[in-house]
Amino acid sequence: MKITDAVKSGKPLGKSLLAEAVNGYLSGKVSKEEMTEFLRAVCACGMSDEDATYLTEVMVGSGERLRFAPRRYPYADKHSTGGVADSTTLIIAPIVAAAGVPFLKMSGRKLGHTGGTIDKLECFKGFKTEMTVEEAERVVDKVGAAVVAQSKELVPADKALYKLRDETGTVKSLPLIASSVVSKKLASGAEVFVLDVKTGAGAFMDTLPEAEKLAALMVRILKNAGKRAAAVISDMNSPLGEGVGGVMEVVDAIEVLEGKTGRLRDLAVLIAGRIVSLAKGVSDEAGAAEATEALQSGKALEKLKELVAAQGGSLDLFDKATRQKMLSAPAGVVRAAKDGYLKSIDCVKLGFLARAFEDGGGYGMTVPVKVGGRVQKGDPLVTLYGKAASEEALSALAACFCLTEAPVPADPLVYRIVT
Ligand code: URA
Repeated sequence: MKITDAVKSGKPLGKSLLAEAVNGYLSGKVSKEEMTEFLRAVCACGMSDEDATYLTEVMVGSGERLRFAPRRYPYADKHSTGGVADSTTLIIAPIVAAAGVPFLKMSGRKLGHTGGTIDKLECFKGFKTEMTVEEAERVVDKVGAAVVAQSKELVPADKALYKLRDETGTVKSLPLIASSVVSKKLASGAEVFVLDVKTGAGAFMDTLPEAEKLAALMVRILKNAGKRAAAVISDMNSPLGEGVGGVMEVVDAIEVLEGKTGRLRDLAVLIAGRIVSLAKGVSDEAGAAEATEALQSGKALEKLKELVAAQGGSLDLFDKATRQKMLSAPAGVVRAAKDGYLKSIDCVKLGFLARAFEDGGGYGMTVPVKVGGRVQKGDPLVTLYGKAASEEALSALAACFCLTEAPVPADPLVYRIVT
């Protein structure tokens, strides 16, 4: 294809050549092999920011684009590039709704080692994630927020290209990730976006400079499209919260809304505060204060209950006695073999093991430790719930943690905010 030669020679591609390639692939005029060659060339040679913007526009144009009736404040949305123990959406959506900003998010399922928001929400028995846009808007009318599965009509080009990227090992490319993420955000109709770009051993972007480049590129594309946007670059060398795997992540989010402190809470409040400040046009401090008040007053907890009920889910998990009963007898514990400091946690392996445990019928696990933390011999590193795990799975879990005698500095939660 002409465009592949242009990528390889570093020439500008332009919107029409990109449209020809993407739309041609969707219509069958461009073969899988030709598209793969193009994707490989982009992974190897990159693409200018201008062309990444054109690619995003072409992808958005491949499907429907939602538009909502105007409200007092613009619709807001968030996106995370994917992490372990990240249930921030379940905390951010109700905080933002409690602050009066409409929040409508389309989410995906598990991807690789990371959990999907839709899978988490389905832990509320009966929770309906497949909704029409009109139904989702009615939930926003009633509650202030809705979280639903990605509509099939939006960005079909991303669906087709993502599948091919997954099959051909061409996922890790800044312009391809940026256009994939931002096209879905632009098509889903919100005006305000805060992106959480993870960096570290458990993230798609393992180095900080790469995460910074991705964050800057996505914010730039969103702003060029006339949106209000910011990105937070946050740490993924450790699981964000304590719960890893469906039900345990939901429990973690509910506990934060009930007052539990820690990194999950801090990141959720930071992102929610930025959303409020961008949507209302107030300072970052004022946005943070509103988010904190929504959480501390218990209004956000009530909002999550309303959201779950409005989407048909059971409120059982909000009942402390039900949770205590469910979690009263751990099915297994992996303990520290010696005293020391946590030098590293293999979050990718941990995420995959948690996924396998959950797929096999377990509720999930808790991981109460972070890189830099001190542990004593016998302290729990992982506690499993719902089902016993094999010896093999337990040793694989134990191997995710590396302990040293020398103190290890703790990682910051947030490295940078890109505006
Ligand atoms: N998430 C997406 O939606 N797209 C990518 O390309 C990578 C992560």
